[in-house]
Formats: sequence, structure tokens, C-alpha cells
Amino acid sequence: EAAEIANRAKSQFLANMSHEIRTPMNVIIGMTDLAMDGTLSQEQAEYLTMVKDSAYSLLGLLNDILDISKIEAGKMELEIIGFSLRDIIEQTLAPLRLRAKQKNLAFKEIIPAEIPDALFGDPWRLRQVIVNLIGNAIKFTESGQIEFEIRVDKTSFESCSLHFIISDTGIGIQQDKQELIFDVFTQADSSTTRQYGGSGLGLAISSQLVKMMNGKIWVDSELGNGSTFHFTAQFGIQQFEPDLNTAERNGKNSRETPMHPVEANQA
Ligand code: ADP
Repeated sequence: EAAEIANRAKSQFLANMSHEIRTPMNVIIGMTDLAMDGTLSQEQAEYLTMVKDSAYSLLGLLNDILDISKIEAGKMELEIIGFSLRDIIEQTLAPLRLRAKQKNLAFKEIIPAEIPDALFGDPWRLRQVIVNLIGNAIKFTESGQIEFEIRVDKTSFESCSLHFIISDTGIGIQQDKQELIFDVFTQADSSTTRQYGGSGLGLAISSQLVKMMNGKIWVDSELGNGSTFHFTAQFGIQQFEPDLNTAERNGKNSRETPMHPVEANQA
């Protein structure tokens, strides 16, 4: 117990530290941007581009450390808000499609019409998991294609579990590393890591977030033959008044904002 308390205190300290370090990091990025707007020699422009790229990768690392220490300190909380799944997916995929295109990779999306759209859940954390998985797919693939698919796993009146699938035609992951990569600071192969960069935190964070969304995450892969990452996540389904015209005839105000299922049941 004492060890666990000490461990949580350490995670809390790390979470606070990462938060404090983010502020000056943002200043470094902002001021570098301003400096790059001025007249510069080619050499100065190159140096500042390197400052900016490194600042961004350090900020990404800080955000990951902040997330993992928040999770370990038991301080990570998910929001529950109404959102449009298709809007969030579109905003999430737009920059990723571009990154795939820059590497000459095809990008395929399968989002069937039966997937519900008006959901309750944490759209920002859902986005974080998708960005991590598609980001990795792009990072570890030199040619071929990335595919993103959503299927319905289970559904009821009030909630649904969705199954997300991200597959690539990249380097693949050897069998005995396929479970380990979901642990913190673990990478499948340290030599490829040197080539591709990364901290080994992304999948650990994604796996914790997915757990908090009552889902699970796993991978099917073969070394040299691409990888397919799967995760499931549960969401509430927004309920709308079935017939607004009737409500208006009855002199009630029509309502455009979605109701939470519990509220809808009471209505
Ligand atoms: P990072 O990518 O920052 O190293 P992650 O936790 O996201 O950290 O991934 C951990 C490791 O899992 C990666 O270093 C890589 O070895 C392996 N991996 C993840 N996604 C893929 C993929 N799509 N193809 C091949 N290897 C992957």
C-alpha cells in the first residue's frame, strides 16, 4: 500500500511538472513563429525550422507524459457530451489523409450508413485514439494503403458499442511483441524506433482511454505483412423527440438540442 501511495504521488508530481513545462514550450513555439516571419538568411531559416520541429515533438512528448501520469494517478476523466460522430471523424481524418498523401499512400474509409451519428461520449479522447493508430499506420508504412473502417459491435436503444479498424500494409509486428506494445515505453523493435522515432507511450495511452470507454484494443499482424489494429468503444445514443410537429401543435416549443437517454426516458 505504501508503495502504491508513493507511486501515485510520483505520478501526480509528473502530471504537475508536465503541465508547468507546457507553458514555456508554447512560448518557444510562438516566438519562433514570430521570428520566422522576419527577414532571415537561409541558414537562420533552417535553424529556426529545426527549433520549431523539435519544440513540437517535445510538446507532443509532454502531452503524452501528462496523459500517462494523469492515468496512473487516477486523475484522468472522460467528458460526456453530445457530438456528431461523422463531424468528429471528418475533422480527425482531414490532416491524416494529407499525411498519407505526402507519403504516396492510398487512404480508404468505410463508414456505412447504419453507423449511428448523434452520440454521447468524449469526442476529443476518441479522436486521440484514432490519431494515434492512424498516425502509427502512416509512420510504419512505406507503400500501399491505410484503411479506416467503423462497424457496429453491439447496439441497444440507449447505447452502442462501435468497432473501429485501422489497417496498413506496413512493416508489421512480430508475434511475441504484439501484447507488449500496449505497455508504457515499449516498442516492438528498438532499431526501427531509431529510424521512425516515437516514445512508446501512444498505445499505452490509447489502451487506457479505450478501457475507460468500456472497450478493448488489440492487434492482428505478421512481421513484414502489415498490421490491423482494432478497438471497441461504447457511446450513449442521443434521443430526439419523435414528432416535432405534434409537439408544436400541442403548443410546446420544438426542441433542437438532443436529450440524454435518461432525460428522454423521463420525457
Ligand atoms: P511510438 O509509436 O511513439 O513508439 P506507440 O505506443 O504508439 O509508440 O507504439 C509502440 C510500438 O508499437 C511502436 O514503436 C512500433 O514498434 C509498434 N507499432 C505500433 N503501430 C504499428 C504499426 N501500425 N505497424 C508496425 N508497428 C507498429
